[in-house]
Amino acid sequence: MSEITSLNLVETRKLLSEKKASAAEVSAAYSQRIAVLDPKIESYLFVAQDQASENLTGSLGGIPIAHKDVFCTSGMPTTAASKILENYVPPFDATAVAKLKQAGSVILGKVNTDEFTMGASTETSAFKKTRNPWDLARVPGGSSGGSAAAVAADLCVFATATDTGGSIRQPSSFCGVTGLKPTYGRISRYGVISMASSLDTIGVITKSVADAAIALEILAGQDSKDATTGSAPVEKYSENLRTDLKGLKIGIPREYFVEGLDAGVEEVIRAAIDQLKKLGAEIVEISLPHTEFAVPTYYVVASSEISANMARFDGIRYGPTIKNEDAANLVEMYFENRTLGFGDEVKRRIMLGTFALSAGYADKFYKKALQVRTLIKKDFDDAFTGVDLIAAPVAPTTAFKLGEKIDDPVQMYLADIFTAPASLAGVPAISVPAGFSADLPVGLQLIAPQFAEAKLLAAAHAFQITTDFHLQKPTI
Ligand code: GLN
Repeated sequence: MSEITSLNLVETRKLLSEKKASAAEVSAAYSQRIAVLDPKIESYLFVAQDQASENLTGSLGGIPIAHKDVFCTSGMPTTAASKILENYVPPFDATAVAKLKQAGSVILGKVNTDEFTMGASTETSAFKKTRNPWDLARVPGGSSGGSAAAVAADLCVFATATDTGGSIRQPSSFCGVTGLKPTYGRISRYGVISMASSLDTIGVITKSVADAAIALEILAGQDSKDATTGSAPVEKYSENLRTDLKGLKIGIPREYFVEGLDAGVEEVIRAAIDQLKKLGAEIVEISLPHTEFAVPTYYVVASSEISANMARFDGIRYGPTIKNEDAANLVEMYFENRTLGFGDEVKRRIMLGTFALSAGYADKFYKKALQVRTLIKKDFDDAFTGVDLIAAPVAPTTAFKLGEKIDDPVQMYLADIFTAPASLAGVPAISVPAGFSADLPVGLQLIAPQFAEAKLLAAAHAFQITTDFHLQKPTI
């Protein structure tokens, strides 16, 4: 049984199509593994009853997957890991969930996240602390820590995830799995609970780049229910994967190799860059001059949008609602519900964002941040006139210990230093396993121009199939 769960998407599809296992057997293997191992990893917030069917017609027929708990799933709880949505069971599927269902996927359950995806360690979840399968004393990263840990521990074939400032890439780096954050607007966000609407993207965390390419083919595309989706054609990403990098120019941004970058991480990234060179890429140093402003810019823009998005949660229909008759009036009821329903990090960002948008300060903070965001976007536009792709670290460190940064928000925010820039620019990026530092995984980040996912995946695949880091498994 454990052999079944160690397979990636491509391999599981083969197993099913050759009838070496039935969909029910594949699902059962995962359910058993979740029952035995998830009490250690704590990645699932909700485990579904067996959903397998033997109809294998779609491209994901019989493939068991997990959804980050911000994706609305009809008939299954969707909490955003927040008490304010406890007991919320949506009557509809997010477009992404519907597309994956249509393709035949089997939902194993919903996985943990930082509350409303605000965080970099999954510790702000109101419900549980997910552990890194490589070291149970460490965080899996975040906010998609449940997705990354579940994939790394073979508790699903792949998982959906979201990335607003790094939430797919950083946990993928920390857990030694592949994480694709597509271009802003490449995948519909209809039915996915918002964090910061000008930055939110959805993507997947997988066991290989080839698996991510298949998932993107299904997920990408315009959706009349999400006006921010782009009309660029959805390419055959999985058929255009490459085995070398000849003819590609890859830029290495000097601002990503600065003080604060852990020496062990830097060593892994330098070796990965050598590998890109061996595969035929021309490596050139480039500059993304406004990188140092990305974290403050991101936290002003994101918090401003968060303060607006969180306003819709009143705690009246779901969550720890105080009884109507206990409150003096409606406003007091909102206050009390929101006090009980939101955790500290969400409250911190509502306050930061409300301040940054308030009269007299909006020009100084919000408007200024938008201007700097334009400069950061321009850094990428300029760089991509000279190179096809950019290679960089994903995060300055490997997975840190549970509790290490949770009481120091600024330290936690600095974990986004190498991921926030691509988010602000809306460009696609991927994290691929690139090695280990002190036995903890390190991801290499590749970044491409907007809607150049085909090029991004092709190059990431060439790196992956000529290395074996993605094949190594944690012993749990
Ligand atoms: N760590 C970042 C934050 O807390 C990114 C979160 C995300 O991408 N959802 O805002």
